[in-house]
Amino acid sequence: MSFLTIQNLEKAFGSNLVVKDFDLKVEKGEFISLLGPSGCGKTTVLRMVAGFERPTSGSITIDGQEVTGLKANARNIGMMFQAYALFPNLTVADNVAFGLKVKGVGRAEREARVKEMLALIGLSEMAGRFPFQLSGGQQQRVALARALAPSPRVLLLDEPLSALDAKVRVSLRNEIREIQQRLGITTIFVTHDQEEAMSISDRIVVMNAGIADQVGTPFEIYNRPTTRFVANFVGTLNTFAVTVEDAATGRVNLGGAVLTLPPGLAAGREMHIALRPEALRLGREPGYETVVMGQIEEVHFMGSIIRLRAKVAGETVVMDTFNRADQPPPVPGTKVEISLSGKDAIILNG
Ligand code: ATP
Repeated sequence: MSFLTIQNLEKAFGSNLVVKDFDLKVEKGEFISLLGPSGCGKTTVLRMVAGFERPTSGSITIDGQEVTGLKANARNIGMMFQAYALFPNLTVADNVAFGLKVKGVGRAEREARVKEMLALIGLSEMAGRFPFQLSGGQQQRVALARALAPSPRVLLLDEPLSALDAKVRVSLRNEIREIQQRLGITTIFVTHDQEEAMSISDRIVVMNAGIADQVGTPFEIYNRPTTRFVANFVGTLNTFAVTVEDAATGRVNLGGAVLTLPPGLAAGREMHIALRPEALRLGREPGYETVVMGQIEEVHFMGSIIRLRAKVAGETVVMDTFNRADQPPPVPGTKVEISLSGKDAIILNG
């Protein structure tokens, strides 16, 4: 049995069903992200696991114990929110000690644990400060220490990085992952940022309108999205409608260009495929089966990668090329050849 099991979970607010038939099994020590656009139900799932929201139906078990009907404070779960959740009138040390005090942990043990937690987050020097005397990133580290101090069974993180600036965000997310792995604590992390989810998760649940559309490792989700929604959301970006022309060879027609998919698809079938930005090659590339003409619309220099948007047969495609110091990227308006291959096509189910 998995450490955390969510079965057939549903939540309705009035007639609005915001979480539908949600299933998830999380192994001990796993870091899972719930990823999806605003309003898709991520926070509601998290709040049901925490015990702040009562499910309309379904069950949640943690370490073999059914917790669905238990109050939040009886679940032994640590939670960290977006921001500004520290008690402003308590020092850093008292904030971290809060959960231990509630649990009735004695003073000496409490002080030792607070010391240990502050060392873990690298803020031992700040024990006597108040939240307003800390940066946003430091406040969130204290919030993490406060969540972890009572040794919860599960750690729930609700967009804990979204109020921070880009640099702090990246360093803190790495720190959270490092601490999570060091402690081996089972963690569910809510985010709408695909790069964030990709970079720190063992597995990702991509949510769409209350449903878990796909569950998989970052590698699987990015390289083998199963639906158009997942493909677009995780940055596979190019999705196309194609028609199967020949079942035996797997030949499909993509707006006039021919691509060869694996054989066995029914002739005449209309379906969607995805091509990752790095699967489209600028220029005539040896070994690629089709070359189409496009016109560059936008050029985004991102450092090691240059992201190009081009119009091809009335559709916008996104292409990533590696930066080369001896080869400036094309300028908008340039007509270019783009190489494609059916071997890179991802067949989508929906
Ligand atoms: P965000 O990233 O914006 O926080 P989310 O994916 O976490 O989005 P939820 O906060 O879970 O989404 O909300 C899902 C849906 O449920 C939304 O349509 C929201 O308006 C609705 N909702 C959430 N809480 C309540 C509530 N207490 N009463 C009524 N509707 C609610």
